[in-house]
Amino acid sequence: MSLKEAFAPLVDLVYPPRCPSCGEAIAAQDGLCASCWGELVVPSEPACSRCQRPFDAATAEAKVCAPCLADPPRHDGIAAGTLYNEASRKLVLAFKHGRRIALAPMLARMAAARLPQLDGEWRVVPVPLHPWRLWRRGFNQSALLAREIARLRGLAVVVDALARTKRTPTLGGLGRTARARALSGAITVRRSRKSQLEGASIVLVDDVMTSGATSDACVRALKRAGAERVLVACFARVIDEAL
Ligand SMILES: [Zn+2]
Ligand SMILES: [Zn+2]
Repeated sequence: MSLKEAFAPLVDLVYPPRCPSCGEAIAAQDGLCASCWGELVVPSEPACSRCQRPFDAATAEAKVCAPCLADPPRHDGIAAGTLYNEASRKLVLAFKHGRRIALAPMLARMAAARLPQLDGEWRVVPVPLHPWRLWRRGFNQSALLAREIARLRGLAVVVDALARTKRTPTLGGLGRTARARALSGAITVRRSRKSQLEGASIVLVDDVMTSGATSDACVRALKRAGAERVLVACFARVIDEAL
């Protein structure tokens, strides 16, 4: 019996399992109620060949989406567990700010399920938090997801490959150029980890991918350090941004 199983009855007694999204009573701490499950939207085909942005039927003949055509992405694909909507937003809030870290395996499972087959040696790297924010929150939500994804896919995780060396403002509300400026030089590869990244294939993990500016800064740093390809895996992807 694992420690988690051993303590589960105690935890359940003190905090009866509730759906993190709507508060409905559920069977276990790490899931959702059936109706909230039904509200999560998994990205569908057809999709952009570069970034997997789902196309509606009208644009289905296109191979590459307009944002990727206008500005070819640095990453080598995006595996999003869900499209960002009210249901996934509530889950992320519960996970990140409500400290429902027991949700990590489920969120990671949904992201991992969207990854293609990964041949060769891959390393899983989380988007870093600034130390100050890490200290306030007590955990890096992306690192929790990265560990789970690595476990699920049998990959190595390098949890501290990237570091945030500069505090950045909230990027929401900033335009593209302002975002890029705010992030310039903010994310770097840790010198001691460089040898593990050179020539490597990387799964970069974020909880929510909004404009893509943060993950882009991470991909840039990883590729500068010699990473050969970088796939981005996230639980929820905001899709209408940048369109
Ligand atoms: Zn619910
Ligand atoms: Zn695209």
